[in-house]
Order: sequence, then C-alpha cells, then structure tokens
Amino acid sequence: MDMEKGGKETGAPEKTGKTEQKKSREEVPKAVEIPEESIPEEEIFVMPGDLVGTAEEFTAGEGTYVNKGDIYSIVTGNVMIDKKKRVVSVVPNTSTPPVIKEGDIVIGEVTNVRDSVVLVSLVGIKGVEEREFQTSGLAAIHVSNVSDRYVKDLSKEFSISDIVKAKVLNIENMRLDTSDKFMGVMKANCSRCKTDLVKEDNKLKCPVCGNVETRKISSDYGTGVI
Ligand code: ZN
Repeated sequence: MDMEKGGKETGAPEKTGKTEQKKSREEVPKAVEIPEESIPEEEIFVMPGDLVGTAEEFTAGEGTYVNKGDIYSIVTGNVMIDKKKRVVSVVPNTSTPPVIKEGDIVIGEVTNVRDSVVLVSLVGIKGVEEREFQTSGLAAIHVSNVSDRYVKDLSKEFSISDIVKAKVLNIENMRLDTSDKFMGVMKANCSRCKTDLVKEDNKLKCPVCGNVETRKISSDYGTGVI
C-alpha cells in the first residue's frame, strides 16, 4: 500500500504540472476568440433562437448554433460578422437588460430611414427606470405600422436622430408600431439648423430659421411625457 502510494506520489507532481501548463495555454485563445476585425456593420440585436445567417454564407461562431443549415443565436446580444473569415457570432450583452415584452412602450432614437422601414436604437422602456435599461438593441418600424393613415414616404414621417415613442408589436424581430396617437416622434431637430422643432398644428416648425417639417408626431410631442 505504501509503495503504491509512493508510486502515485512521484507521478503526481509531473501530471499536475502538465495539466496546469495545458490549462494556461488554452485560456489565452479563449479570451480573444472574437476576432478583432469583427466590426458590427450595423447593430443587430438578437435574442436566443433568432436567425443570424445561413451555414451557406457563414461559419457559426461564438454564441451561435446551426440547425438545418441555418445559424441561430443562443444568447441575447449583438451580431458580429467577420467578413474575412466569414464567421458570424453573437456577442452577449454583459448587463442583463429588462426583458422587453409585446405591448411595452419603448423610447428610441431613429438611426436609419429606409424605403419601407425605420430603424430605431432603443434607449428605454416605459415604466422601467433608465439606469436599469442598458441594452443597445435595435428595433424596426415597418411602413405599414407607422400610422392609421396611408404612408407613402417614410422620410416625411421620421428623420435620423428623432426621439420616438412606440409600442412593441413583436419581440421575435423587434417590430414597433407608432399608429396610436400617443406614439410617434417626441422630439426632433431642424434639418437645417439643428434647433429643437416646435409643434404647430400638425407640423413641426423651427423657431430659429422658420423651416417647417413633417413627422408622425406623437400627441405628447415636446412635453417630455413618456
Ligand atoms: Zn432651423
């Protein structure tokens, strides 16, 4: 028994040394697994189960899994695409934001106005204190969900940097709705001189240069009421 123990003991330090060396070597690449050249093309916020690409276009990276040729996120975070290596990964949000539910009223800033969709960077949820809301998620308002009236040209309803209030229609693809009279633009700047526009009838007027602009205006425009 003594001999057996002795034999084990002599072998033990060597073994431990090897495992420790191996461990520290493995830890280095793990910390830098997200390639540095992975710059988000535009911030795409996803939740577990969201489609982030296909196995045909990309290799599934950190935070994703492949199912039947499609790549899905396994975490809540932002999509990162390494164009050189064609790897799609999802970088998890380190802070845990409050869960956004359908029907929630959210506040966001317009970041992009396209032909059929307006992209909004979320900054808050009604009823949730600002300090608790730290996600930088992106949501979209489709042209059909802007207003009760027929909307043809989105650039007449929203402009980049507008602050909007909207209702969450769908959390799977973060679709928002502003058709309610309380929903829409809460604050907007003059496109010419950047002064805060003032609501006048159903339009917005610049008190400095007199420029008149149109928006899908919330009935709470300029009141600061959320
Ligand atoms: Zn102006």
